[in-house]
Amino acid sequence: MRLILFGPPGVGKGTQAKLLSATLNIPQISTGDLLREAIVKDTELGRAAKAILDGGQLVSDSIMIGIIRDVLKSEQCKNGFILDGFPRTIPQAEGLSFLLAQLGLNIDCVISMEVDETEIIRRLGKRSSCDQCGKIFGIETIKDKTKCPNCGGQLSQRDDDNPDTIRERLLVYARSTEPVKRYYQKIGLLKTVNAQGSIEQVTRDIFVSINHK
Ligand code: AMP
Repeated sequence: MRLILFGPPGVGKGTQAKLLSATLNIPQISTGDLLREAIVKDTELGRAAKAILDGGQLVSDSIMIGIIRDVLKSEQCKNGFILDGFPRTIPQAEGLSFLLAQLGLNIDCVISMEVDETEIIRRLGKRSSCDQCGKIFGIETIKDKTKCPNCGGQLSQRDDDNPDTIRERLLVYARSTEPVKRYYQKIGLLKTVNAQGSIEQVTRDIFVSINHK
């Protein structure tokens, strides 16, 4: 199974990708996580990407396609994958199609997760993730705001989840990423899921979409 989870920042792609990954036994490939890892490790990529992430802008298409090329060719993706946060532009979508054609593979389904903008801003302003297990929480749902209820690790807010950067990320989404939906609609791969409901409901709806592709 090769899936793309598509949607604006804060819609819950990361949360759902982790759940789908555990159930389907295929890896979650989050380009945002890969970039944050590179920043923490202070690699050449991380140093180049830091200011871009902090400003809510997009890392260049050629860098992103290069990262995805390496990941898709790796052993971990041999039985499938869930792309989370890629592609984010039309050139990235075209690059992915080209790359998959070279590998003789195809995407089974693109799930577009949809919520209204007020809810997105509310979720982004209140989310926290665990430095250890990577799980994401709505900060209002947990008692001890610093400790992960899943593994006890340290919880922290992402640097780019502040009001100015959130605004910029949503503008970038509308301008550069939203058009990617049409790209997949045209080739008949797009399924839409209402992501406004509970985590469990959204997971169920995603499975319904996958099974009816
Ligand atoms: P995310 O964790 O998916 O919200 O991504 C965090 C940030 O990483 C984005 O705001 C971008 O700066 C960068 N990023 C992640 N994926 C991509 C991509 N496919 N293309 C360009 N930049 C990306």
